Amino acid sequence: MIVASQTRTQIIHASKVDRHALCPSRYKAELSAGRGATCGQQLEDGLFLHQMLRDFCSTMKGGGLGSDIDELIESRSRRFHSFGERAADVRAQATAALWSARAVMDRLGATVLDVERELCSSRMPVAILPDAVVAGLHLMLKGRLDVIALVDETLLLIDWKTGHFLPTDDSLAALPSSLVYEFLARHAFLKEHTSLPVETIEIAQAQVPTGETVSAVLGDEQREASKVFIREMAINLDARTFPARRNARCDWCPINGECELYQGDVGEAF
Ligand code: SF4
Repeated sequence: MIVASQTRTQIIHASKVDRHALCPSRYKAELSAGRGATCGQQLEDGLFLHQMLRDFCSTMKGGGLGSDIDELIESRSRRFHSFGERAADVRAQATAALWSARAVMDRLGATVLDVERELCSSRMPVAILPDAVVAGLHLMLKGRLDVIALVDETLLLIDWKTGHFLPTDDSLAALPSSLVYEFLARHAFLKEHTSLPVETIEIAQAQVPTGETVSAVLGDEQREASKVFIREMAINLDARTFPARRNARCDWCPINGECELYQGDVGEAF
């Protein structure tokens, strides 16, 4: 039960808000099961590739070309051995990812400003998410940006994707996480860098090793739609209720066998 007179804080993390928006019930189930339980090897490989990309892009800060890729790979030889019989595969993946990242950055003509940056909003109710959402409820937005770069007067927020899925430009703009990243860049990062000549903030996802990139500049309509999902997540976290929401991925949901909403629809279809 929500007690209106108390002041409570809920943290909305960019890495979680999209999964909650898809279906709060599935989000809760996955959280309870733990990320590691669902995709151990994939998660380990993804984390390692992100570390390699971070180290590589760190040397690009201020517009540098980045370290020598072969040297960087060689310097991680012992780490590759820790993957046992998969060492050669992981090494090949990492090499391809770094060459791909270099090609992406060259193509974008971006100057790297920061790498793997954790950003956090003030604990105070923030402009886009007034505390009137739930009386006494304060929100804190958090997120980690893989690369923050500058292209002319555009601040580019790049998220490396090591998996197979990449959204379209439109669906990237519609993700609530895109609004969280935009907000954090504007109200946390740019507050520390007031001299940067930024006119526009652009959200981008770059897949490695394909080098495919999608990007979006948010409009008011997309912002308003994402605010609804962010508010909903804050309220659900606060009330500890996570209702099911039908979506295009229900057929692949690991808990659809026990989901009343899904089972009801499946029953009606026959
Ligand atoms: S089957 Fe669909 S509605 Fe049910 S929990 Fe899974 S994702 Fe949510």
